[in-house]
Amino acid sequence: MRKHVTPGLIGVLVLILPTVAGCRCSPTPRPPDIPAVADAVVVATHAPMHPGDSEAVTFAAKASGTVDRIVLAYERHALSTAPGGSHEQTLVEALTMLVECDPEGTVASLPCDMTPGPGFPANSLITFHATAYDSEGRTASESYSFAAGEYPWPSDPIPIRVNGDPREHLDIVFIPDTDISIATFRESLVDVLETLYFKYDVIQSYRTLYNFYYSEVAGDYEETCNFTDPANMANLTVVADTVAILHESDLRDCRSGSRMSSEIDYDKTLIHESGHALFDLRDEYCCDSSYSQQACVPNLWNSLAACEADSAELGYAASFCEQLTKGNDSVNYWRIDPTGSAGCMMGTSMHNAGSDFGQACLRRIRVRYERCLAGDCYPWPDCP
Ligand SMILES: [Zn+2]
Repeated sequence: MRKHVTPGLIGVLVLILPTVAGCRCSPTPRPPDIPAVADAVVVATHAPMHPGDSEAVTFAAKASGTVDRIVLAYERHALSTAPGGSHEQTLVEALTMLVECDPEGTVASLPCDMTPGPGFPANSLITFHATAYDSEGRTASESYSFAAGEYPWPSDPIPIRVNGDPREHLDIVFIPDTDISIATFRESLVDVLETLYFKYDVIQSYRTLYNFYYSEVAGDYEETCNFTDPANMANLTVVADTVAILHESDLRDCRSGSRMSSEIDYDKTLIHESGHALFDLRDEYCCDSSYSQQACVPNLWNSLAACEADSAELGYAASFCEQLTKGNDSVNYWRIDPTGSAGCMMGTSMHNAGSDFGQACLRRIRVRYERCLAGDCYPWPDCP
């Protein structure tokens, strides 16, 4: 077992966490006598997303609510290929405490981080556990896994924030475009997740339903909708709901089947294209996209009457239904989500700073979330 020196913190450097772990296996079950909810929420992060051999990793968490303390811990599996070719994980470091951040009394917001010594060896899979305690001793926790050190299967999706079985999660694999260096691409991944995706509550609040991976094998995206797959595309789509090609150039982006493209540093494109790729949302702007009404929980309707009939369920007045038009052009489809400064991400408001998903889009997103929570993220789309 590793020992980590904890600057500024006294006492136990390494300890098994009996209050967190009912056993030393993974994933860590919650003891049944501790309620699942606390007056605190915790968000865990780490950087870099995929540390190299022995590269230092910063583990961090922030809790809010009524927070007494935070405990950060990890366990490490070694990854190996069995003689028969199967991929194996072997627990080599049981649950190991990194740091306990324990201010006097309770606080409304508590950050906690730790960068233990020399990092991790090649072929490691780290499972990070952040547990916040409220004043009653109840816990809120977050756990996920990421690769550390050289990854033994570089053609496969490399986990950077993985919560569980791909069948029960939305799986996004980021790959570099040919216009970006591998170094820039890798360094940007922290921001892609934590600044761009997690800016949106509908993703941040449900982040445990997502698995994020990357691959260094480049693909290419050219306007408009011309994708060149990476050589390992077949390996990626084994788990990917979408393979996201991230580029530096300013391009009109696209989703095509299990591919999407986006600028690497622009949340609006990333979230808009993810809306297509993960939730099969339709564009709500006119007039040069392809349009159709989804067979169920649509965000676009092929008649005014159909839009109006759906309005009450969405909490909108029927009068909000508007045909898609632009200047003198129009198409025979209707939207209900708002436009304007805080309008819908899938429509003309996409590039506005305050844009987010409208209720029609959110309804469709929630349906898929419910299916994932029920253990069936595939197939999509079909109707309830
Ligand atoms: Zn679009």
